[in-house]
Amino acid sequence: MRSAIVEPAIVFDRVGVSYRSGRKTTVALTDFTLRVAEGETVALLGPSGSGKSTALKALAGFVRPTSGAVRLAGRDVTDLSPAKRGIGVVVQSYALFPHMSVHSNVAFGLKSHRVPRSEIGARVTEALDMVGMGAYAQRLPRELSGGQQQRVAIARALAIRPKVLLLDEPLAALDAQLRQSMLGELQQLRKALPDTAMLYVTHDQSEALALADRIAVMRDARLLDIDTAENLWRRPPSDFTAAFLGGANLLPCMVNRVSGGSALVTVGSRTLRAQAPTPGVGQENWAIDSPALLCVRPHTVRLGGTGDRDALRGTVTAAVWRGATTRVHLAVDGVADEITADLAGHVDTAVGTVVGVQFPDPAGVLIPRAVGAQQP
Ligand code: ADP
Ligand code: MG
Repeated sequence: MRSAIVEPAIVFDRVGVSYRSGRKTTVALTDFTLRVAEGETVALLGPSGSGKSTALKALAGFVRPTSGAVRLAGRDVTDLSPAKRGIGVVVQSYALFPHMSVHSNVAFGLKSHRVPRSEIGARVTEALDMVGMGAYAQRLPRELSGGQQQRVAIARALAIRPKVLLLDEPLAALDAQLRQSMLGELQQLRKALPDTAMLYVTHDQSEALALADRIAVMRDARLLDIDTAENLWRRPPSDFTAAFLGGANLLPCMVNRVSGGSALVTVGSRTLRAQAPTPGVGQENWAIDSPALLCVRPHTVRLGGTGDRDALRGTVTAAVWRGATTRVHLAVDGVADEITADLAGHVDTAVGTVVGVQFPDPAGVLIPRAVGAQQP
């Protein structure tokens, strides 16, 4: 009888990767463990140099892990050649063959996967149709726009009907407007491929939020936090994730009292109410009289007159109109770092204006202070 245990489509098992060039060694990935289920999309999100592409290359077989293993549907493929892994890969630079037609570019991968000659034509058409490029089969890549070239690159990856699709910043080379429409197309593609596991590498939080079932936040060659987008947004486990996903004011505070999911904290001379999420496995409870960070999202901050009883006194240090919102930076009495407020519309506030800064109630969510963090 077959085992009833369903193996994840993708497993990274404590993968480490070091690059050596001359005498210099760069640790690009450390103790990286991640499971992606069949049909699931996970975004690897992090700043440049955090090891995202290295993780993807280790899975695709383009770099050999220094330690650990990668498995596909339960099978250890750590030592298998890239072509034998049956993975579809899409990279930022498209990487199409310039002298070959769109059709030949998409057919190329099928030939190397030994798809029978008689089937290739139909498979190419099917893949091009999935990305809306069926009418362009005879063109050369240079006769296409950047967005069209990237669609062809996606079709080439899909033609082999992969169980696993890896995308490495596929929209990064496109202009902002095209990126938005391609994002919508990628969402459609996900629906059209319900059994395919996807790993989507990006440094852009809006792409991760739009596409991923779960987001894995990377920092300094490590996986820092992983959860659904909503959980990471509502209850960020770390100050880094709070700031990277959505932007955040992170105010040093002291925890005075905790009851259920709520806490009273002191910020400067004020007492504020905060959400106190239940700690995760292995995490400490919120300790009374201990420092923590209060995460206040910029769009929840309100500015009013200085007479308001609950307001903190702030001075405008900068105001930048960004179209739908105006971002106001403030120096607030009793708070070491500047506070950011995103106000709706075009708000004309002169630098130096003294205002009352109001937080919502609860003011935000508590985040543990990183171990070894500097006192303000
Ligand atoms: P990301 O995709 O998150 O920007 P990478 O995985 O490309 O990050 O890189 C992680 C680290 O490894 C960086 O410090 C980068 O400079 C280094 N690195 C990447 N590729 C190589 C390579 N082929 N040789 C040496 N160092 C590399
Ligand atoms: Mg990269």
